[in-house]
Amino acid sequence: MTESRSISLDTDVQFVKGIGPRRAERLAAIDITTAGQLLRHYPRRYLDRTNLTKICDLKVDDEATVVGKVLSCGIQKGRKSRYMVMFGDGSGMIDCVWFQGIQYVSKVFKVGQTVAFSGKIKQYRGLQLVHPEYDLISDDGETDPVNTGVIVPMYPSTEQLSRSGLDSRGFRRVIQPLLSQIEQTCNDPLPENILKSQGLTGLYNAVCNIHFPESWAAYNAAKKRLVFDELFYIQLLLQDQRHRRREHRQGLTFHRPRKIAGAFLETLPFQLTDAQIRCIDQIRSDCSSGKAMNRMLQGDVGSGKTIIAITSMLDAVDNGFQAALMAPTEILAEQHYLTLKNMLSDDRVHVALLKGGGRSKDKKQVLEGIADGKINVAVGTHALVQKGVRFENLGMVIIDEQHRFGVMQRADLRYKGKIPHVLVMTATPIPRTLALTLYGDLDVSILDEMPAGRLPVRTAWRKEDRRSLIYEFIREEVRAGRQAYIVYPLVEESEKMDLADATAGYEKLSAEVFPEFTVGLLHGRMKPDEKDEVMGKFKQGTTRILVSTTVIEVGVDVPNASVMLIEHAERFGLPQLHQLRGRVGRGSQQSTCILLTQGYLGETAMSRIRTMTETNDGFKIAEADLQIRGPGQLFGVKQHGDLGLRLASLAADGPVVEQARKEAIDVMNADPGLDLPEHRHLKQEFRTRWPDWRKNLVEVG
Ligand code: ADP
Ligand code: MG
Repeated sequence: MTESRSISLDTDVQFVKGIGPRRAERLAAIDITTAGQLLRHYPRRYLDRTNLTKICDLKVDDEATVVGKVLSCGIQKGRKSRYMVMFGDGSGMIDCVWFQGIQYVSKVFKVGQTVAFSGKIKQYRGLQLVHPEYDLISDDGETDPVNTGVIVPMYPSTEQLSRSGLDSRGFRRVIQPLLSQIEQTCNDPLPENILKSQGLTGLYNAVCNIHFPESWAAYNAAKKRLVFDELFYIQLLLQDQRHRRREHRQGLTFHRPRKIAGAFLETLPFQLTDAQIRCIDQIRSDCSSGKAMNRMLQGDVGSGKTIIAITSMLDAVDNGFQAALMAPTEILAEQHYLTLKNMLSDDRVHVALLKGGGRSKDKKQVLEGIADGKINVAVGTHALVQKGVRFENLGMVIIDEQHRFGVMQRADLRYKGKIPHVLVMTATPIPRTLALTLYGDLDVSILDEMPAGRLPVRTAWRKEDRRSLIYEFIREEVRAGRQAYIVYPLVEESEKMDLADATAGYEKLSAEVFPEFTVGLLHGRMKPDEKDEVMGKFKQGTTRILVSTTVIEVGVDVPNASVMLIEHAERFGLPQLHQLRGRVGRGSQQSTCILLTQGYLGETAMSRIRTMTETNDGFKIAEADLQIRGPGQLFGVKQHGDLGLRLASLAADGPVVEQARKEAIDVMNADPGLDLPEHRHLKQEFRTRWPDWRKNLVEVG
């Protein structure tokens, strides 16, 4: 290797000074394989040397970072061995103690080192930090060139990386020289006009100041620029896909008069809402446009999405195509199946339910029917997208309650048919910022109107001391002809225990509390036939009170039910509570949802309960959820990692998402292939960021 090897962002990380093959291997484990990726290993926090707490000013229970020199260190044997580091900063001294990982930490520290320790200050024979985070700043007598600045970056690391010298200090030592090496080769991919209109600093300046900020102002400018980048490239990817689809993917054209759907709508005992009519129109115009539809239907719980799904599927059938309706749970798939069976008497429509698992004769028949086209409306769970399911001519795919599906599963479906139209329906309204980011290539229809005559559900928070009053209330409602749900949580880790809760609850409720009513029990471990039977009886009204785990969370529709009691409401997430509550308030009578909590509520549980009692608006609830939890977990998939978001926060950076989207649309409209000279670097960066873009990882439908 010669000294003059030029380093650019694409250079293999092993050629970066100070890395080499061994460390490169370790870095590969955290997905760092190029110099550019190493530079996207951002500090987890910074130490501002002008702004440190002195040891003499520390107070017990403070969360603090202290910088000082190691005065002594070593293992103390005893009943329980421990490793102690005593260090001081000239104003005082403090002990650090480790009870675990002693072998490892005993190799880390040496007398004379300058170290930053962070943690909660405890009192034990003086001040103490137990298992603190630490960051070696420099060895005895060494002037670490990195530390001449006042703001010192502290990098995340792993034990593996630390062992090969890439602890926080190790990262500082390789990243700082790398920055000066790439100065010449670091081209800014963003066109001048975007930098200007968004008020962004240049890429090189941003990269330098995110690692070694000259000042907090410089840091803020750097962060602003890099946050924009993360969001912008996602939007660019989505816009690229949108163009590609529009350009190259001819859709199936539905054109015949919609007789079957028309006849179906005539049989309904109610008028469609204006919002329903508008959404059906939007879908129909997509389906007759010659391009494949890729649309999301957002509508709060109970807004009447099923009717729209049915109409769309019937249009497909009318045009000689098959339709598939995918639901997130077996119960919901079964319920959709029953609804369709009941509502559709047309002899041109052949509905079948495809269940997961098993190799029953029934299943074989359904598969054959789907393959030869005799079945033209297939309902199922993800079983519909498993291997071995082949459609004859799939024309319409509807995904209900899409937030339950992972990204990959959604992507799978399109390969089953040629280019079916896709409609994803969601009742957990996705906050706009998140929708734009995750589904920026979708068109969106919004059902923003509830069917006439609905009263908002009243929601009350109660504690154990009110239990008997709650039971009395339920009794009154049921006597008045209504029905009730009583729901127990199902926490994944302890499915058995919670099942026991629901079962025990059921036994007590049916035998002691409500002996005069028929009480049913529903849980996820029941066989499909048993579930059908229980749901059927509740739907018909034979069963008056249904005790259930959260299997009823989505989609279940029994308009006569007017009370929902949620046990251990503190254990549920917000979208879940909202979904559950959506099971009532579906008829014209006033409905009530009671959130019963146990014990002391933590802050987040408290804010979930408060949100529920304050609003029925699914959009507000989704926004609140985003604030409380952050977006990463919202969909049960690691969206954050998938999308490469490191600095950007979808909760906090909503406005930036919108700006990034606007710029991405402008770029792609002006130059869909990124072929203009001013987009040369942009195209290269785009390809580097999304090497798998052809796989359409974030594509929906
Ligand atoms: P969701 O949007 O939660 O899936 P559903 O499609 O299950 O809602 O509809 C909820 C209930 O409202 C169902 O009982 C359905 O028959 C009824 N419904 C749908 N549209 C209307 C309407 N326009 N007027 C009155 N009731 C309606
Ligand atoms: Mg529904």
